[in-house]
Amino acid sequence: MKTVLLNKLQHISEKNLMAIEDAKTNGRKVIGFYCLYSPTEIALAAEAIVLPLCGTRNDPIAAAEEILPRNLCPLIKSSFGFAVTGTCPFFGFSDIIIGDTTCDGKKKMFELLSQHKPIHVLQLPQNQDSRIALSFWRAQIDLFKSIIEDHTGVAITPERLRKAINLMNRERTSRKALMDVNKIDPAPLSGSNLLEIMFKAGFLADKQKAIALMDEISAEAVKGTLRENNSHNGRRKRILLTGVPVGLGSDKVVNIVEQCGADVVAFENCTGYKQAFTVDEDKDPMDALAEQYLATPCSVMSPNTGRFDLLKKMIPDFKVDGVIDLTWQACHTYNVEAYQVSKFIHGNFGISPLHLETDYAESDTEQLRVRIEAYLEMI
Ligand code: SF4
Ligand code: SF4
Repeated sequence: MKTVLLNKLQHISEKNLMAIEDAKTNGRKVIGFYCLYSPTEIALAAEAIVLPLCGTRNDPIAAAEEILPRNLCPLIKSSFGFAVTGTCPFFGFSDIIIGDTTCDGKKKMFELLSQHKPIHVLQLPQNQDSRIALSFWRAQIDLFKSIIEDHTGVAITPERLRKAINLMNRERTSRKALMDVNKIDPAPLSGSNLLEIMFKAGFLADKQKAIALMDEISAEAVKGTLRENNSHNGRRKRILLTGVPVGLGSDKVVNIVEQCGADVVAFENCTGYKQAFTVDEDKDPMDALAEQYLATPCSVMSPNTGRFDLLKKMIPDFKVDGVIDLTWQACHTYNVEAYQVSKFIHGNFGISPLHLETDYAESDTEQLRVRIEAYLEMI
C-alpha cells in the first residue's frame, strides 16, 4: 500500500495512545470489550472510550499457560496473557472490562480476569429466536446500561443513545465500504493491508478520525493506486476467509495465502463482515441494540443461521474462487460448524472449502503453506 497512507495510519495509532492517556487524566472512563455481542453504543453514550481487547498475539500465551490449560483457544490464552503480563496498553487503560458468556473457555477465563480488573459479564443466550431469547437478552442490556451509568456517573438518555448509535452506524458503514472495495477484481487492497487498517482503526478512541481515515483509504483504493504490483503470474485467485477472528499477530494464514500468490479478498469473521451491520435508528434505541447485537452470527449460537446468510451473499459478491475456513485449536463451536459450512458452500457454489485448524504459533507455518499451495492449485 502507498507508504504515505501506511505512515499516516501508524502515526494516528501512536498518537491514539497519548490521546487516551490525556482523556483519562481529564476524567474520561475507558471501557474494554471482549466480544462483538456487547453494544459499545451504551458506553459511548456515557462519553466513555471503548476499546476492543481480544488478544491476537502469541507472545503472552506462555504466561497464560501457567494458569490456564494449554488445550484452550489461543484467543482466550492471548487475552488472559496480556492481562497477567501487563503488556497490553489497552487492557491497562481500561477502567472496567465487559465480557460475554460466549463460549465456555472465555466465560471461565473471565472469572480469573476479575482478579485483575473490575469486570461485568453479560449472560448471553445460546439461541437467537426472539421468542426464546430476546426478553432475557434485553434485560441483560438494561443491566449493562445501569452498570455503565454507575461506573461513569453519566445518565444514559435515549437522545445520548441515538447519537451513539448514529456514530457507530457511520463507523460500521465506512468499515463495510472499505471492505467492499475488494469486490473489484483485481482486489485494490491486499488482505493483509485491509486487516491492518481495520484492526488499527478499531482501537482509535476518536471514532470520527477512524471514519475519516477509512473513507480516505477507500477513496484512494478504488482509484487502483494502492497496490504497486497486483499480479503474480497472471490473475491472483480470490479467497474468502471465514471462521474465527484474526488480527495483527494472528494473521499467518492471510500472509501465507498472499505469499502463495493469491488474495484474501473478504473476511467473514468478527474482524470483518460480522461487523458490517447497522442498528435501526427508528426504533426504541435499547430494543434496537438488543435485537441487532443478538443477531451476531457467531458459532456460539445454536443454530447459527446468520453465518450461512452472510456466506450466501459474500461468496458471489466478492467473486471468490475459494474459501478457507479457519478454526483456532480447541474452539469446539467453529470446529463442529466447519462440516455444515463445507456442505453449504459446496452445495450452493460448488466450492470445496479448505478447513484449517491452527493456533497463533509459527511452528506449523510450513505445513499450512503446503496445504494452502495445494488448495490454490486445485481451485
Ligand atoms: S467469534 Fe464469536 S465469541 Fe469470538 S469474538 Fe466473535 S462473536 Fe465473540
Ligand atoms: S474462537 Fe472459539 S473458543 Fe476462541 S473465544 Fe471465540 S468462540 Fe471461544
